Amino acid sequence: MPAQKPTAKPAKKSTPQALALAAKKTKATLTPQAAKTLRARAQAVFAILAARYPEPAPMLDYADAWGLLTATVLAAQCTDARVNQVTPELFRRWPAIADLANADVTEIEEVVRSTGFFHNKAKNLKAAATRVMETYGGAVPRTMAELTTLPGVARKTANIVLGSAFGINEGIAVDTHVTRLSFRLGLTQSRDPKIIERDLMPLFERDQWMDINHFLVFFGREVCDARKPKCAACPLAALCPREGVQ
Ligand code: SF4
Repeated sequence: MPAQKPTAKPAKKSTPQALALAAKKTKATLTPQAAKTLRARAQAVFAILAARYPEPAPMLDYADAWGLLTATVLAAQCTDARVNQVTPELFRRWPAIADLANADVTEIEEVVRSTGFFHNKAKNLKAAATRVMETYGGAVPRTMAELTTLPGVARKTANIVLGSAFGINEGIAVDTHVTRLSFRLGLTQSRDPKIIERDLMPLFERDQWMDINHFLVFFGREVCDARKPKCAACPLAALCPREGVQ
């Protein structure tokens, strides 16, 4: 009977206990030599993608840190193209953070409606603007700890804002593409974004952390599609164990 490829396991709930157990398991299963080999493979992947995408940057349109934060919040469960259609009107109506803090939430809902989950997104954006004004003096904060106190901003969004708007590499933003590709490429054995981020960070230099997010997002859209990965034409094929790919 032919050997079966391992199949993807469903994501487990990331309780602190589960995270600690997973961390322990990964450390226990990787010998120093295996860790070195994995890092070399990750770097080879990075080099190929860096040559393919010489100008990595978010696909969301933004003018400053608040613009990127807003666009990233709206991009949850929505395409970047749709968000880019919505944000010009949002910033035409409420150009400053203070304007959005004082806006009527039902009016914000109308503007962001087409991005989906618009009740929550409008509520969070107004609350985040209010907190930036009241707690941070009207400037988007520059630390992970502070950013993640803003309503609607979790670690992924904070990593994107810190990395792309401020040039601060605090961690690796793990979205659906990074999750899928990291697993298929064998760079992690987890589907949990927190564990994936922890697994990826030692495989890349700190100044590569923002770029690897962009590369995996671009490559996930272009080649390593969720349903139909183009493995036969993939430039990473020689490096990829295709974990979980049927
Ligand atoms: S070989 Fe297939 S699974 Fe691996 S990165 Fe390429 S497209 Fe994705």
